[in-house]
Amino acid sequence: MTPEEFRTHAHRLVDWMADYLGNIGSYPVKPGIKPGDIKKQLPLQAPEGGESFEAIFSDFNNIILPGMTHWQHPQFYAYFPSGSSEPSILGEMLATTLGAQCMIWLTSPSAEELEERMMEWLRDAIGLPKTFTGVIQDSSSSATLVALLSAREWKSGYAINQSGFTGKEKFRVYTSTQAHSSVDKDVRIAGFGIDNLVKIGTDKNYAMNPAELEAAIIRDRENGFTPLCVVSTIGTTSSTAIDPIAAISDICTKHGLWHHIDASYAGSALILPEMRWMSEGAERCDSFVFNPHKWMFTNFDCSAYFVRDKQALVNTFSIMPEYLKTPEDRLVNNYRDWGVPLGRRFRALKLWFVVRSYGVEGMRQRLRDHIAYGQWVKEQVESTPGLELMAPVPLNLVCFRLHPEGVNDEARLDEINSSFIQTLNSSGKILLTQTRLDNKFVIRFVAGQTHATLETIKKGWALIQASAPHSR
Ligand SMILES: *Cc1c(COP(=O)(O)O)cnc(C)c1O
Repeated sequence: MTPEEFRTHAHRLVDWMADYLGNIGSYPVKPGIKPGDIKKQLPLQAPEGGESFEAIFSDFNNIILPGMTHWQHPQFYAYFPSGSSEPSILGEMLATTLGAQCMIWLTSPSAEELEERMMEWLRDAIGLPKTFTGVIQDSSSSATLVALLSAREWKSGYAINQSGFTGKEKFRVYTSTQAHSSVDKDVRIAGFGIDNLVKIGTDKNYAMNPAELEAAIIRDRENGFTPLCVVSTIGTTSSTAIDPIAAISDICTKHGLWHHIDASYAGSALILPEMRWMSEGAERCDSFVFNPHKWMFTNFDCSAYFVRDKQALVNTFSIMPEYLKTPEDRLVNNYRDWGVPLGRRFRALKLWFVVRSYGVEGMRQRLRDHIAYGQWVKEQVESTPGLELMAPVPLNLVCFRLHPEGVNDEARLDEINSSFIQTLNSSGKILLTQTRLDNKFVIRFVAGQTHATLETIKKGWALIQASAPHSR
């Protein structure tokens, strides 16, 4: 492709992108296709000769697009939203055009220094103390792994990096029964063994019970285990429950455990002064992660990971082969030493575009709107006979279910709700996902799309009402 051809095609794609963003609402949220439908349209072998842009773009439109779930669709209320915004997309376009590897300062001083500044902006915006240092990770799952490995090395005096597990220490990690599955995965990868992940029970609001946590730590120590780390959650995935951070920080300090806070989704809301109660006590944690790529208008991937002691992190991950040594090593952050991968994308650029385009106050306004929409939906649930609210709504995730009068068999209620959500989702007009709370099938509605308005939310709610067999 010549530079002039690139210019022509790129202009065409930008027109396509603007049209797409303007018309997403006209696509089915979720494609109505079967497994294998897309793959069978793709040739068995790679082409030997190059093909025209025309042919590729036409297949994108005819084969790929019909198989997409449209995460930015206004009627997408599933999972947690995947952050996106026009400024973020533009930043990504530039980052991918620069095509830089941002692993050490010398491989792109601007990328390294912008990342430092962006992490300072976010740290200050969410109210973490200035003693915290940040780095962008690809995902919360990776950030939590990095936290567990740092805790392991900090506790063992960096001995396990050196000699491997020798059986001297039997580490225990604690999290609540409502924690994200990435904690289970990371505990396995970090070599602790899933039997050493202790799941602590929760209260009626699905928040971790700190008395039970402390009792488990004491019992484990008496039984010869080494209590290592607590992973607490601000905003659980099932219901945005908020663990009592201050009480957990106290317990970690008292018993010498690492405290990692997973605020993947709800952490964005800490830019709101009225939501800071959620993170009270977080200033004493050891590490903290939240995802601008969920609820801060920034495209995947962008996880903001903060640590209180930067040295524990760098000592765990630092590798210094000759070919990576530079004269500036002592003066700068070399982010390859702050996580698992060596190569790193220039992710700070899109974040810079987002924060400057919205301004912190602009982002606050959007998040406040989203929370108000969530509260509106909660009120609809509460005032509609035949619907039941299944968890508190501190933010903008509403957990509810159909509960027709007179039906009290739990298995029957599960069936009613599971077939209800399937009916809604197969319409292609709306997408919701489910979870289980107290072993009951629950429907989740997340009002956090970048361009959500009260109108789009009301439209989604009308679809739900119209399909609910017993709620009118
Ligand atoms: C989404 C989520 C995760 C996983 O985030 P990734 O960035 O996709 O790894 C972890 N914890 C919580 C609480 C989440 O909601």
